[in-house]
Amino acid sequence: MSVLIVGSTALDSIKTPRAENPRLLGGSASHAAVAASFFSPVNLVGVVGDDFPKKYLQLYRRHGIDLAGLQIKPGKTFHWSGEYEVNLNHRRTLLTELGVFETFSPELPEAYRSSPYVLLANIAPALQHHVLNQMRRPKFVVADTMDLWLNIALDDLVKLLKRVDGFVLNDSEAQQLTQQENVFVALKQIHKMGPKYVIIKLGSHGSILSGPKGYFLCPAYPLSKVVDPTGAGDSFVGGLMGYLATARGSIENNLRRAMIHGSVVASFCCEGFGLNRTTKVTRAGIAQRVKDLEQQTRF
Ligand code: AMP
Repeated sequence: MSVLIVGSTALDSIKTPRAENPRLLGGSASHAAVAASFFSPVNLVGVVGDDFPKKYLQLYRRHGIDLAGLQIKPGKTFHWSGEYEVNLNHRRTLLTELGVFETFSPELPEAYRSSPYVLLANIAPALQHHVLNQMRRPKFVVADTMDLWLNIALDDLVKLLKRVDGFVLNDSEAQQLTQQENVFVALKQIHKMGPKYVIIKLGSHGSILSGPKGYFLCPAYPLSKVVDPTGAGDSFVGGLMGYLATARGSIENNLRRAMIHGSVVASFCCEGFGLNRTTKVTRAGIAQRVKDLEQQTRF
């Protein structure tokens, strides 16, 4: 089964203490779509300007990503720039040029409206609502977000939580949303806001799932060298959804393995700038890291 992924499609200019890389393919939907493509067919909905490099369209296509929902509008592609400190967990946004993203309205091609698996990657919650309004009874909807929406669109986000099955956010966002320092207390509060499954990401410390079967503590793959963590969260949730869409059996039973696969794809993402490393990953490379994690966590 295919996954519908809606989010930002961007050009990212990324600066780390070691290097600077301008105008890489980025955006929440790009990272999530490439990650999901290792497991299932992907339908991508986003917007780019007429300056969007053809090589990036070819990259999507090489990954079998369907582009019928990618709008190409006159104007500039969303351009985001971020700078990392020596501790790569700390990042600041240098620039956000919205370009054609400013007036983006995600319109789903008819064939996408009955997609069973839907990932509402990071975009404004109002747009995430607009996507759900066009869907016909999806089987499993997961939403991602960022601190910006907690600051400027909290009401829309809170309403969205009543309409999704799963919600993914990082620890600082969970703290901001619930005013709770303790992640386990925060998880309980977020469940009360609607989602059956809540995943809190802890960066290089992995992630925690809370659902009807209790908690699952998902490790991050141990990396001794991180080049650029941009898009790791999007890769994680993209890999998770791609895996779920093709796994046999119930979502409940597959979710833990799906998180492990998401975690592995996210680890590759961190090993190169933008999507440079992720796009070179093989299924065998993913399988090896899944096996490593199995050995490292079994007791
Ligand atoms: P992450 O590292 O998981 O936080 O995701 C970084 C990605 O988010 C980059 O590829 C950016 O292009 C994208 N991004 C940054 N700001 C926004 C925004 N306001 N809306 C949507 N996507 C964004």
